[in-house]
Amino acid sequence: MSATTAGGAFRFREIYEREPEGAWGAPGRVNLIGEHTDYNEGFVMPLALPHLCRVEAARRDDGVLRVHSSDQPGGVVELTLDGLAPVAEGFAGGWAAYPAGVAWSLRTAGHRVGGADLHFESTVPTGAGLSSSAALEVSTGLALDDLYGLGLDRPSLAEVCRRAENEFVGVPSGILDQMAAACCTEGHALYLDTRDLQRRQVPFDLALEGLRLLVVDTRVTHELGDGAYAERRRGCEAGAAALGVRALRDVPLDGLDEALGRIEDPVVRRYVHHVVTENDRVRQVIALLDAGETRAVGPVLTAGHRSLRDDFAVSCPELDLVVEVAVDRGALGARMTGGGFGGSAIVLLDEVLVDDVREALVLAFAEAGYAEPEVFEAVPSAGARRLTP
Ligand code: ADP
Ligand code: MG
Repeated sequence: MSATTAGGAFRFREIYEREPEGAWGAPGRVNLIGEHTDYNEGFVMPLALPHLCRVEAARRDDGVLRVHSSDQPGGVVELTLDGLAPVAEGFAGGWAAYPAGVAWSLRTAGHRVGGADLHFESTVPTGAGLSSSAALEVSTGLALDDLYGLGLDRPSLAEVCRRAENEFVGVPSGILDQMAAACCTEGHALYLDTRDLQRRQVPFDLALEGLRLLVVDTRVTHELGDGAYAERRRGCEAGAAALGVRALRDVPLDGLDEALGRIEDPVVRRYVHHVVTENDRVRQVIALLDAGETRAVGPVLTAGHRSLRDDFAVSCPELDLVVEVAVDRGALGARMTGGGFGGSAIVLLDEVLVDDVREALVLAFAEAGYAEPEVFEAVPSAGARRLTP
């Protein structure tokens, strides 16, 4: 299935034996720079992918939520809105926790949302660090917002979806993924201040300069991931507490050495070093893009990777191999993207090098005994939107 086609209304009709009222979509994303900064109230810079989670939906007047996904076995999951309780309190519907969580999040925020039939088809690979979960949440949120005339603005929609993931599903993620799915626009990277959700669309037209951004999905997920994410969050909170600031975002780069001297735990010190320098790398990338110096973004990406690998310790051999091989073959820069411990890396390079680097990656992975990586181009695409009528 391509990124833009999906089964169409036919599937919805087949499953629910009625007509959908419309179709909505929300994309996956890659983060250009600004990793593990969102839960430190720092800066991020995602762009939306053409890969889309598409939902067809129709209201129900009996307070029942029915969900179905072409990408998950098990058929239709039927739930009663009034009885919804988070996963930690016993919800046992598997993947349905994401759309159910969005309905729960809307209702507990006081929005008048009734039942619905929802059918999902997605081209966002799951668990690849490209945020299929946020695409699922935001497409659900947008459909319910539209069907029930809630009139939520995009940041509010993202907040609702984040609360679904944090409090209903029980994944302690930051706001990056949901804001990316909700707010990105075609041809741009989204500069986002995660403290106050201030944002700016930064033109990001690589083709104009003969450049490309590749996504390399390593297709591995190391089990370590979930526990390590929570541990990094705790470490960052401990660092902020030791420094007497609300969040690590408040530590300026020129005060970093002094700050590090006040932290005893060497592990926390490394985490603080990553977050503070990473926030600065976001600023550097924006300044370079604004100045039209896109090629110079490459080394900043690679520096970001080293920081994630050495200071924050969230990379893995497969991701390191992508960066090493790509840079070795002449790419301008490369880094892991997303939470780490597997998932995807991005590579910024001249378009003439695309085939060469792709081949080198496939070969290096084969030699290392790893599964063949999935390589595709990241074209900055539109955020969540109504698709029909
Ligand atoms: P990521 O967001 O990086 O892809 P997550 O672990 O956060 O990885 O989310 C993946 C989970 O989201 C899947 O295991 C599944 O439960 C759910 N999910 C994502 N896309 C779909 C889909 N199209 N249909 C059903 N569930 C989905
Ligand atoms: Mg996710």
